[in-house]
Amino acid sequence: MSERLGTPERPLRVAIVGAGPAGFYAAEALLKQKDIACRIDFFNRLPTPYGLVREGVAPDHQSIKSVTRVYDKLAAAANVRYFGNVTFGRDVLHEDLRRHYDQIIYAVGAQSDRKMGIPGEDLQGSMPATIFVGWYNGHPDYRDLPIDLSCERVLVVGNGNVAMDVTRILVSDPEELAKTDIADHALEVLRASKVREVVMLGRRGPAQAAFTNPELKEFGELPGVDVIVDPADLELDPLSEASLAEDKTAAKNVEMLRAYAARGSTGAPRRIVMRFLVSPVEVIGKDGRVAAVRIERNQLFQAPDGSLRPRGTGVYETIECGMILRSVGYKGVPLPGVPYDQATGTIPNRGGRVIDPATGEPVPGEYVVGWAKRGPSGVIGTNKPDAAATVALMLEDVPLLTPAPGDGDIESLLRERGVDFVSYEDWKTLDTHETSRGAAQGRPRVKVTRVDEMMEIIHAGRQR
Ligand code: NAP
Repeated sequence: MSERLGTPERPLRVAIVGAGPAGFYAAEALLKQKDIACRIDFFNRLPTPYGLVREGVAPDHQSIKSVTRVYDKLAAAANVRYFGNVTFGRDVLHEDLRRHYDQIIYAVGAQSDRKMGIPGEDLQGSMPATIFVGWYNGHPDYRDLPIDLSCERVLVVGNGNVAMDVTRILVSDPEELAKTDIADHALEVLRASKVREVVMLGRRGPAQAAFTNPELKEFGELPGVDVIVDPADLELDPLSEASLAEDKTAAKNVEMLRAYAARGSTGAPRRIVMRFLVSPVEVIGKDGRVAAVRIERNQLFQAPDGSLRPRGTGVYETIECGMILRSVGYKGVPLPGVPYDQATGTIPNRGGRVIDPATGEPVPGEYVVGWAKRGPSGVIGTNKPDAAATVALMLEDVPLLTPAPGDGDIESLLRERGVDFVSYEDWKTLDTHETSRGAAQGRPRVKVTRVDEMMEIIHAGRQR
């Protein structure tokens, strides 16, 4: 028998940790090439696959979720297995994967968030937008968050697309959301919501906003919602004005914001107020809960790298609110046994090859894709070329690899450890359950949001 890696007799064994878009696109790149025979095993913490497509993409953006059809096709390949409900570092260890696989790909995304670093940030009612997103999307970790929408005004800090998503969900007509796969517990709270105004705070100007044109356009199309922008915020400094010639997205954003400013208030029942050049400096509490936020007016200055950065002017204002969501970026969390860069929140790497920070040398056989590789930027599709670039390096490295000593029979190991892992077939049982519950209500699906309930449905499916 040939021991040459990548032959039908001894296929290259690849473990992918994380079954979100980046992981699936890595699998796609491996399956597409014809030179090296491979076998791929996914390990995913939740029973459900798709990562941010299920738990991040806003429920009113259903069309984006159709990419899962591509992932399902990949998962159906004879040389691909899925082990869901398996936590890396607990159910399966770094050394297990090293023993059984020739190459490991980390596709774990960015599971945490950045903080603002201001007093009062941990008061009740102040939280990261990322967990609010998890809550309305039915992520089991966040489904029991005590979300209180009994206040009239919410502040959202940040000018990225996540800030746009949470703002839109907070002012949307719940009956429109009821047609989507939004989690039932969130729908119930949103139906009773007293929130009438969401104020978005951008620390820089409208020309530096990170949100994109379709998301800003959607604001103007929400029924019953006014978009309020102060025309004074749209009087750009000369450097911002000049930057618009180079940046079509920013130019279009500014054009749309000017149209919103011109339209002003129509007396709609709900409002989005977009403020620019302001930073929160303190969250003020009353009886342990958020009551107001003190903000400081900023001005822009040109940093040595040429970018325009914000600087406080010493002019302050206080805005009353009952909740503040910080949407200032996701951040990775370290995996046991895997290098981690605290500063960037990513796995240190060169083009996708994991680097040992002590030596600066690649860790043989270990790779990274997606947000864990490049940080939390880009849309779902950005992960496709990103993963393909990592896979190209993996294939280049194959001739230099020492084959994994184990026989790759991870399934027996998981069974011995009593891990109740979920196969793709099991996931399809749950998927069918969710979509049929959804069909009965004219919705794409009704999500099951507790792991124990997911497992009950899966166990019942195995009996049939
Ligand atoms: P993002 O696009 O990087 O935006 C982060 C925002 O936070 C920026 O406006 C940033 O301002 C601001 N910020 C950072 N630190 C701050 C601070 N201390 N105080 C105030 N503001 C601060 O990140 P994201 O919104 O989390 O989105 C992550 C990625 O997912 C992005 O690539 C996004 O486009 C993508 N995404 C796409 C969609 C979609 O396609 N619909 C939906 C959701 C997310 P500065 O620019 O001044 O740093």
